[in-house]
Amino acid sequence: MSLFIRYLLIGIMLPFGLSSAPAQSMDLPQLQGNGSLEHLISEVWTTRHGLPHNSVNAMAQDSQGYLWLGTWQGPSRFNGREFEIYDDIRVTGLPDIGIFTVDVNHCNGSLYVGGARGGISRHDDGQWQELQPAPPFINNLNVDSQCNLWVSSSEQGLLFYENDQRSSVFTTDNGLPSNAVFQSLLDKQGNLWAATSEGLAVKAANATGFSLIKSVPNGRVRTLVMAPTGQILVGTQEGIYQQTENFGFKRFQPDFNASISALHYSPEGHLWIGTYRRGVWRIRNGETQSLDTNSGLPNNHVLDIMHDHEGSIWVSTHGGLVQFRDALFAKFTKAHGLVGNYVRAVMEYQGNIYVGTSNGVTRINSEGNFIVGEGTELEGQSVLSFQRHDGELIIGTYTGGAFAWNGKQVTRHYHQGDKLPDNEVRKIASSSRYGLVLGGPDGLTHISPYGIKQLTVDDGLLNNYTTALFFDSEHQLWAGSVSGVVKITLTDAGDDIRYQTEEINLRSLSGAELAFQIVEKQGHLWVATDRGLVVHRMGTDEWQIFNRDNGLPFDNFLSVAFDGDANLWLGSNRGAIFIDHDAFTQTLNDPNTLLPYQRYTEVDGMSSSQVNSGGPSLYRSSNGHLWLATASGVSVINPQHRRDLSSSPPPVVIASVKADDRTLSYGEEVASDTQRVAFEYAGLGYLMSDHIRYQVRMRGFDNDWIDKDSLTRTEYTALPARDYVFQVRASYPGGAWSEPAQFAFSRSEHFWQKPTTWALLLLAAVLIAFIVVRARLRFLNRSRRQLDRMVQEKTAELETLVRQDPLTGLGNRRAFDERLRLELKRSQRSDKHLSLAIIDVDFFKQVNDRFLHTVGDQVLIELSRLLVTLLRDVDYAARWGGEEFAVLLPDTSLEEAIEVADRVRNGVQHHDFSRLLDEHQLTVSIGVSCSEHYPDHSSLLVAADQALYQAKSNGRNRLEYK
Ligand code: GH3
Ligand code: MG
Ligand code: MG
Repeated sequence: MSLFIRYLLIGIMLPFGLSSAPAQSMDLPQLQGNGSLEHLISEVWTTRHGLPHNSVNAMAQDSQGYLWLGTWQGPSRFNGREFEIYDDIRVTGLPDIGIFTVDVNHCNGSLYVGGARGGISRHDDGQWQELQPAPPFINNLNVDSQCNLWVSSSEQGLLFYENDQRSSVFTTDNGLPSNAVFQSLLDKQGNLWAATSEGLAVKAANATGFSLIKSVPNGRVRTLVMAPTGQILVGTQEGIYQQTENFGFKRFQPDFNASISALHYSPEGHLWIGTYRRGVWRIRNGETQSLDTNSGLPNNHVLDIMHDHEGSIWVSTHGGLVQFRDALFAKFTKAHGLVGNYVRAVMEYQGNIYVGTSNGVTRINSEGNFIVGEGTELEGQSVLSFQRHDGELIIGTYTGGAFAWNGKQVTRHYHQGDKLPDNEVRKIASSSRYGLVLGGPDGLTHISPYGIKQLTVDDGLLNNYTTALFFDSEHQLWAGSVSGVVKITLTDAGDDIRYQTEEINLRSLSGAELAFQIVEKQGHLWVATDRGLVVHRMGTDEWQIFNRDNGLPFDNFLSVAFDGDANLWLGSNRGAIFIDHDAFTQTLNDPNTLLPYQRYTEVDGMSSSQVNSGGPSLYRSSNGHLWLATASGVSVINPQHRRDLSSSPPPVVIASVKADDRTLSYGEEVASDTQRVAFEYAGLGYLMSDHIRYQVRMRGFDNDWIDKDSLTRTEYTALPARDYVFQVRASYPGGAWSEPAQFAFSRSEHFWQKPTTWALLLLAAVLIAFIVVRARLRFLNRSRRQLDRMVQEKTAELETLVRQDPLTGLGNRRAFDERLRLELKRSQRSDKHLSLAIIDVDFFKQVNDRFLHTVGDQVLIELSRLLVTLLRDVDYAARWGGEEFAVLLPDTSLEEAIEVADRVRNGVQHHDFSRLLDEHQLTVSIGVSCSEHYPDHSSLLVAADQALYQAKSNGRNRLEYK
């Protein structure tokens, strides 16, 4: 029986041609919308990250979006990156810095803090206001729906503050079981609940005093929370109690026999439970999960729990602050039990997900993570590739050859010296008809029942270094290498296999050369390459490429897969790209249509956005999940849950505005002698705060948004007198921009720039003249001369101010104009030529954008100094405006002027600006004209300006003349 028939039969028996093992009941790890708590932890902050104290006693988010933390080192404001600590009691007005409780008044956005020595203070718009303290200690501050403040004190009972004034006090005299109150709660019916050291008490809406709730143990009741249903939950030393009806309570189910420190409902209605010694629990859809120090919590004593505006849950402990967020992707890393973090290949086999790392193979199923091949040669191998073949999993490694694994043991080991030319097995392809092909740096090894055959460049490969390998549904082998792809048609000759290779010239498609992965779908072959996704309509000569020209964000793709709805997914070093099925179908029909895409990165929960090139590094498992092999573990998404996490941008605030180190308030006019206006801002998003990007725009100065990347500070110098609105906006990578935050201000004119000053001056001069006349009548000539001199001196002083450029000290445009008129007259009289050069700095805007405006100013100063040294004594240089200078060259012909100007151009090009500009060579363009051809004032100027324009359009760093 020929090999063809044999494989054909096997092929019929195995409808998928992949596995001879009986279909496994799938037992893949469950994601459940990215479930378990340890998968949700996104970040931990401790004093090492700038937290003022590792015990964060309480948390709240204000209406701008800042997180406020109460610590023993004072209140602290967090923007996702930095903690601003308010530890000066002279500023906060508190008797002690220790803060035990914080709450936000949502009626006006102000914040209350309270704690040690009974201090209470309100923070509002940067100002602190002290309230009447309640010593010795404040346990809790709670703003009710009417925006009044309830203060739970450690010895004075429950205190009520209206408009920040204490108006009532409830103590044991009013029926409280104890004056040590931990928390109060006003329910919707108007009943007032108090958690005390000796049980739970309630003052019914119509009652005058409190009565004890007997169905809750009368020990310490630490916390109360209202469930979305309106029921009250009570956290005691012995567990949780739940309201049944009015004032009846029963033990909460499931029963937690632990001392409860915090209770919180998430926006989705999940109950979060903090304990004193046993970490945190979450009850979600009836299922309870716990997290403690064994699984990543920094400390088992939970102090507070809250959620922020983006839906992240924050848990504060004695050992730091933890953020939990529900992400689109779940991740498995070393912390979750993988043998290694550098993952190159993922594949499903016998109901397990096999993860190939640089330290060995882990298989994951719903029961956990297991090391594969422990105690065998496979253990610890750096894995490059996986392929199911003939009921087994073939595992290709970096230095150990390939292993056949049957789920229990290694059944075969292919290695150098035994069938393989090299131990590196980068890619593997399997065909039910022709067997197994392994690809490495020295070509392909084909293993079939007829034997082993090596295929190299001698057999028609473009390069021996294999990067991709794939058998299509027609059993044709596609082999990608670092030099392109070949199609190999295999034919069974009865006792041998013949190979016929056909070269595919990918290079005509945007220069594509490296093919990393090849898959087949919908009659097309999809090839991830270094220049885009190459698509081939099978059975035709049609090849097409999807790349930047189709609107994709970049061109190099390492892997490709399709989800259950036939949407396209691409793996890249910069995240995963999703393209809707209809969208790419349209582009297939009309290559000129753009491809709308969605990019997913760490923001969306990927363990790393760097997807590796492996075999395969993007894989769809039988339950429809997509698995990505990344540089830091494996990330997995249920494409059905696809939604856009990063599309709601972080709100942005302008944290400070300073004019020469003086704080500026909104709408203020800055003084005319202000050198610099500096802005600091922050995006208050906590999903991926380090990745927030910013753009700024100064209305009145810039027309376009300027990218600031992650820079949270920008400054401007040399702002002309005008009205301005500074704007800043923020986004997560690939996401939408926030509404801009704005700051309006204006800059006043120098007094000598104002017409009124001139009018006043004139008036003063007339007045002085009048006085002089009067004085002359009355006094002697002596005083007249004195006054004359005074007037002259003042005028001269003003005149220099009016004619000098304040930055460079050169003459300004006005001075230059006067000098030009003078020199023109002089040249006409003496019959000699006057030349003019206008110098404009090339790409100066880039200097301002890349460096700072202050640096731009320094460059202008240095340039003006350089100019003076490069010119002759008789020449006159002035600042013509912005970054333009004008030079008058008296008694100079056009030829001589060209010589001087070129010396200037050359001098600038070789001047060392590195003190100011890092890796930026400054150049200038120059336009020259001469009175020889343009004898009058305006034609001379126009000619030089036109020449300059030509120099710019001819490429810059050159001079042109007219
Ligand atoms: P090119 O001339 O080569 O076409 O490009 P450019 O970038 O130099 O030209 P453009 O005229 O667009 O920009 C000039 C910039 O110079 C705009 C402004 O921000 C900057 N500028 C003008 N005056 C000052 C100043 O006094 N200080 C600083 N720092 N920058 C200035
Ligand atoms: Mg210019
Ligand atoms: Mg310029």
